[in-house]
Amino acid sequence: MTTIRGFDFHCHVDLHPDPAVIIQQCERERIAVVAVTTTPKAWPQNYLWTKSSTYVFAAVGLHPELVGERDFEVELLEKRIRDSRFVGEVGLDGSPQHRPNYDKQREVFARTLDASQKHRGRVVTIHSRCAARDVITLIEEHIDPADVLCILHWFSGSAALMQRAIRAGCYFSVNTAMLKHDRGKTLVQSIPQDRLLTETDSPFTEIDDRKTVPWDALTTITQLAKLYGEPDSKMKNIITNNAKCVFQFAGINLEEINVEV
Ligand code: MN
Repeated sequence: MTTIRGFDFHCHVDLHPDPAVIIQQCERERIAVVAVTTTPKAWPQNYLWTKSSTYVFAAVGLHPELVGERDFEVELLEKRIRDSRFVGEVGLDGSPQHRPNYDKQREVFARTLDASQKHRGRVVTIHSRCAARDVITLIEEHIDPADVLCILHWFSGSAALMQRAIRAGCYFSVNTAMLKHDRGKTLVQSIPQDRLLTETDSPFTEIDDRKTVPWDALTTITQLAKLYGEPDSKMKNIITNNAKCVFQFAGINLEEINVEV
């Protein structure tokens, strides 16, 4: 019987120096991982790395920060969404550096959502830095939450926008960087417990002056337990049940998998 200890719903496995080693370590640490990619060209290699893994699942993506140079890859992304139940990293980035490409980003993201909606049963992990309002509007317009499950990764929009995202069926994946400041803590506290997931965005976040690894998602559970005033074991149960729902949505049955609490 397999035993899962934790969940990392947004990790850039292929941006680690040795992805194959990280995947082996996830097996050893028993952490289930959604391995996001930043271009659809990276997906076949990620798929090969993760194909025989019990714990690590490759997602096909086109990062909004790369859309300026790679918007033509959207066609490839659409094709690969047919083959991949997990989609990401996708979304919009409205920060000054990426504003010049915002129209392109909107078009690519809308087409990504349409392709996910067309194939149904997709789980999409979404970037929304400085663009939460537009990301949520596009989800509302292009997605039926009965068909596509959207996870807002590292959400930093307003509390009002969070409520809209909740009504649109979104889940939220939380990392330790979000819990470093009071604004982030307050925002995370208003996530309904049945929409809460953990992530690391590894290797783009740090703990104790080192780059995070997927099993740092266990630290996030402890931090969330403290924030919500629940025992660690209860928080672990909450995350596990939510994770099971998400994997179920993607056609992966974790019910057979024993989760250690
Ligand atoms: Mn990311």
